[in-house]
Amino acid sequence: MIDCHTHTYYSHDSKQDPKETIPYAIEKGIDYLAFTDHCDKDCLFNEEYVKTIRQIDLDSCFLELNNLKDQYKNKLEIAVGLECGFMNQATPMYEEILKKYPTDITINSVHLVDFIDCYFKEFFAKKTKEEAYTKYLEAIYNSLFVPYHYDVIAHIGYVVRKAPYDNKSLEYKDYSDIIDSILKTIIEKGKALEINSHAEGTGSLTLPNPEIIKRYKELGGELITFGSDAHKKEKLLFEYDNISELLKSLNFKYLFKYLEHNPIAVKI
Ligand SMILES: [Zn+2]
Ligand SMILES: [Zn+2]
Repeated sequence: MIDCHTHTYYSHDSKQDPKETIPYAIEKGIDYLAFTDHCDKDCLFNEEYVKTIRQIDLDSCFLELNNLKDQYKNKLEIAVGLECGFMNQATPMYEEILKKYPTDITINSVHLVDFIDCYFKEFFAKKTKEEAYTKYLEAIYNSLFVPYHYDVIAHIGYVVRKAPYDNKSLEYKDYSDIIDSILKTIIEKGKALEINSHAEGTGSLTLPNPEIIKRYKELGGELITFGSDAHKKEKLLFEYDNISELLKSLNFKYLFKYLEHNPIAVKI
């Protein structure tokens, strides 16, 4: 069992001590665990978020997590990574950071669209569902072309989590052109599509939803990761069994884990 996307107290929105996560993960039988704390340089371009969102202390984070990786190397495979919040203006900062702090796995995420986190209501003000979702998907598409190295595209459909619509599902058929462009680019670039189980409130088991995962497979996509996006240890491997079944039913045979940016196949 592998989990490629988790958070610790180095993320602004988590209080989880990694020293408690690791024994918990070992007890649960996890074989591989990636810590991917938020690096939110995108938030530096919104005055309010500058005040309210704590930036990661990279020195302390990499020191502690790499020490833990070493300390537990015979008991649990630990990867140290980052989740970088995409914004064009922030790319030079990420280039510097990723040079200075080598990761095993780098997750490329879109949280902010038009300088607003699309997890917040204000993002949806004065937008139709179609406008909001199209802008979000365009941001994902643009994020695929950043100049720094990344391995995984996170949680496509994040915009749905707090969307204020009666029918808020992001259906493949309604956005098929842009979704196909995204999936084809992921495949061409040799990146992995993350299957994220932090999907509460979306009406789907996974982000992206199974229709989109199915389309990825149809287009020839093989690289997928599982990410619980756990902000507390109890959420590690959330829905892992159900998602494994789903992936098998879609004819996937392997999940992938990353060490020093190399994808390693693990049988589902
Ligand atoms: Zn995220
Ligand atoms: Zn995350």
